[in-house]
Amino acid sequence: MSNTQIQNQIKHLTETLNRYAHEYYTLDAPSVPDSEYDKFYRELEQLERDFPDFRLPESPTNRVGGAILSEFASVRHAVPMLSLNNAFSPRDESGAYDHAETLAFNERVCKDLNQAQTEYTIEPKFDGLAVSLLYQNGIFIQAATRGDGTIGEDVTENIKTVRNIPLKLHGKNIPNLIEVRGEVLMLKADFAALNARQEAAGQKPFANPRNAAAGSLRQLNSRVAAERKLHFFGYGIARFDGVENPPQTHAEELLWLQELGFSLPTGNWHICANIAEVLQQYEQLAEKRPNLPYEIDGMVIKVNSLIEQEKLGFVSRAPRWAIAHKFPAEEAITIVEAIDVQV
Ligand code: NAD
Repeated sequence: MSNTQIQNQIKHLTETLNRYAHEYYTLDAPSVPDSEYDKFYRELEQLERDFPDFRLPESPTNRVGGAILSEFASVRHAVPMLSLNNAFSPRDESGAYDHAETLAFNERVCKDLNQAQTEYTIEPKFDGLAVSLLYQNGIFIQAATRGDGTIGEDVTENIKTVRNIPLKLHGKNIPNLIEVRGEVLMLKADFAALNARQEAAGQKPFANPRNAAAGSLRQLNSRVAAERKLHFFGYGIARFDGVENPPQTHAEELLWLQELGFSLPTGNWHICANIAEVLQQYEQLAEKRPNLPYEIDGMVIKVNSLIEQEKLGFVSRAPRWAIAHKFPAEEAITIVEAIDVQV
């Protein structure tokens, strides 16, 4: 390819991906399956790596998420809400996985930490939407979507309708302030029931649980959100203040969240002593995936020690201590289904 052709291809991919991202994040109405978005994204990443001078400032590889809707009040995140870098494991005809990308992630982590191996936690990668929940003196006061990572939408009223989110924290170890990060989603059974109701009422069904969850959480009328059963899983703590024995590892953070009253994906998150155990868990979770009560599109691998996380730090849009180890695409949604989305 000539330089002009490369520049044109970079421009084309950037524009296409930005359009898809707008449909997905802002309108909750994707027009293509995630696998297609991921394929273009990877092609763009590769071209930008090979020809860094041609990278455009509006490239999606510089950004997190999408624009926020002006109908909601905006919330500036005290700690940015980032994305995750991805690793894929293609399978050969015999079904064996090629884990080269995840092994390369581990190698980089260990090299940067100057260690032979490190401990990880693994969790399901929930296919919902990220929210941030703020509590002061144990009382829920505000919820925000990720938005563009810096500014999100205030969805406090709708979050109050999510029954497994504590409005008052439980337990003895309650901080003066805590900002909890996690995923709002719709359980598969609740999604099926919602679509049955939609059809019975002569209304269009939702394309998938993620869309139904995003559309419900971003409803201006919180009564509608209340009718759509949403569910929350905690997966991290952005900041806290005023506790005596702060957690030292990600696993301790998760256990603290559980003590405070948040749901965890019990039985499906684990501490792994090394990358070999991580890969075993990936293959087990991939097998369990069809029978889980919620949709997942991969497994998130996080360095367990918070000190090590701090050493590894961040790149522009993602932490360097975590990766989303994606599963191969389940049968792709059809474009027609994806467009038929209601909010
Ligand atoms: P991502 O969804 O790949 O990863 C980051 C997100 O993972 C976080 O914001 C959080 O919400 C979520 N997450 C779930 N479980 C988690 C856990 N246990 N710990 C931490 N985080 C967890 O990143 P992204 O930037 O939001 O989205 C990129 C993906 O979205 C793409 O890979 C693509 O599949 C999809 N997408 C699709 C389209 C489309 O048009 N179909 C458009 C844009 C994006």
